[in-house]
Amino acid sequence: MIIKSDKNTIKNYFEDSSGVIGSSADFVAIAENECDICEFLIEMSKSRTPVTIVGALTGNTASGLAFGGSVLSLEKLNKISEINEINDNNALIVVQAGAKIRDIKLKAFEKGWMYPPDPTEQSASIGGNISTNASGGRGFKFGVTRDYVMALKVVFSDGSQGCFERGRYFANKSGEIIFDTNKNKKRVMLPKYCLPNVKNAAGYYNRQRADLVDVLIGSEGTLCVIVEAVLKLIPHFKEVFGGIIFFDSLNRLYEFVCKIKSISKMSKCGNVRNAINVMSLEYFDKNALSIVKSDYPAILENVVGGVMFEQDIYENNSDILMKKWIEVMDDSGIDLEKIWFASNLAQQEKLRVFRHRIPERVNEIVRKNNLPKIGTDFAVPEDKLLTIIDFCDKKFKRMGVFNLTFGHIGESHLHTNILASNEKEYKQCMYICSDIAQKTIDIGGTVSAEHGIGKLKHIFLKKMLGKRGFKEMSKLKKSFDESGILGQANIFPKDYIML
Ligand SMILES: Cc1cc2nc3c(=O)[nH]c(=O)nc-3n(C[C@H](O)[C@H](O)[C@H](O)COP(=O)(O)OP(=O)(O)OC[C@H]3O[C@@H](n4cnc5c(N)ncnc54)[C@H](O)[C@@H]3O)c2cc1C
Repeated sequence: MIIKSDKNTIKNYFEDSSGVIGSSADFVAIAENECDICEFLIEMSKSRTPVTIVGALTGNTASGLAFGGSVLSLEKLNKISEINEINDNNALIVVQAGAKIRDIKLKAFEKGWMYPPDPTEQSASIGGNISTNASGGRGFKFGVTRDYVMALKVVFSDGSQGCFERGRYFANKSGEIIFDTNKNKKRVMLPKYCLPNVKNAAGYYNRQRADLVDVLIGSEGTLCVIVEAVLKLIPHFKEVFGGIIFFDSLNRLYEFVCKIKSISKMSKCGNVRNAINVMSLEYFDKNALSIVKSDYPAILENVVGGVMFEQDIYENNSDILMKKWIEVMDDSGIDLEKIWFASNLAQQEKLRVFRHRIPERVNEIVRKNNLPKIGTDFAVPEDKLLTIIDFCDKKFKRMGVFNLTFGHIGESHLHTNILASNEKEYKQCMYICSDIAQKTIDIGGTVSAEHGIGKLKHIFLKKMLGKRGFKEMSKLKKSFDESGILGQANIFPKDYIML
């Protein structure tokens, strides 16, 4: 274990993408192997020293930021195994928690495989992605991180370890999971709350007959240290066809999105060949486009928003598919001259860089303003998307603070960022976000679909799960993390932790 405590050397561990300031810890422990982690946690548990686990610190909710105690980094545990090809359609890869998403994807790609979850920030670690159940652009077709984690190797705060394959330990009828580690038997009772039926990254997982692996996924560094994971890979597409369509009418934009979604769902259900079956549908509004206009002067004037799409192609049918896309665009009254098309991987990559530039720019502005980031991460049922967009619009118009919206419209999951420039505006924005959270919950949505709750969104989660939900989560945490040292103040406030 490498221990660093010199303030200058460790200052980079106290900043993530949330814009939250004031993070600090007495020291940073950098694990060199699994034993290091076990010994370290036993010691920290004895002295009741809080441990904040960090990945690549790209998180948006300050969940990787320490406020006292110690920081545990897995940056040196970043090995990626060779690919184990099971058959033509399935392969597995074993990755250590510190491995970067970019490197995992690249290794898979080189052998013709794909790791489908696609959080746009490729420098994130797989440990961080699993702990937040990250998703991103391609979730519409391929789902979220959870869907690709087949097994986890973890260390608990009492120093015990476990390798848990999916399908081995399930919750019984009363919601209890009983499982063995190398040192003891653990019994955990899942919370009883009801999670919304949308893409979700808020609160501990508690679906019926929950698999232990699923409970650990999305637990934001509060239950265990993830050391290693076995990930499922699928065959990589051969070609890609995509584009960015700029719209001058929001109604037309929404109609187009609905049309593509419905065609894609039909193709997926019927497993239809040669039919549109989109991999990602990403949205950006006028203000989101305006913040990247200086990097991309070719963005058209007088547009109200844009949609980026990606169609993956597996056979020699790209011509047929392109023709179908053009037909739908034509039917939707879209001016083809105004589309930025990509017909190969290199061009598509440029569009992805464009898409990623929006959250990057937001983070730059947030840093400059020196105030924490205020951003929503809601997902709502499909038929409620316009309700929530309309609700947000009205709120923002009344307040008059600059805001922008972008995100995963294919999954009714958008991010609205409000760029407060002073403390007063910041407080007002928080009230508005609180109203948006309430509305989201009222219409059956979640307050976080991919970033998690971290230290910034307790009040929103409380609206969703109530005080009782917090108490149930705290009880669950206690049975995994008896000394209560892991990820304090992540997901729910520290006062709820049972010591
Ligand atoms: C420009 C930009 C775009 C982004 N786009 C997306 C997107 O499209 N989709 C998306 O989902 N997210 C996105 N994010 C957010 C971020 O990349 C994800 O939340 C990511 O999962 C964080 O990973 P990390 O390695 O940086 O983790 P960190 O930020 O370091 O930590 C996040 C959480 O994971 C825990 N953790 C980390 N490693 C471990 C481990 N080994 N064991 C246990 N707990 C651990 C930490 O304690 C913390 O609670 C974006 C961020 C940026 C800056």
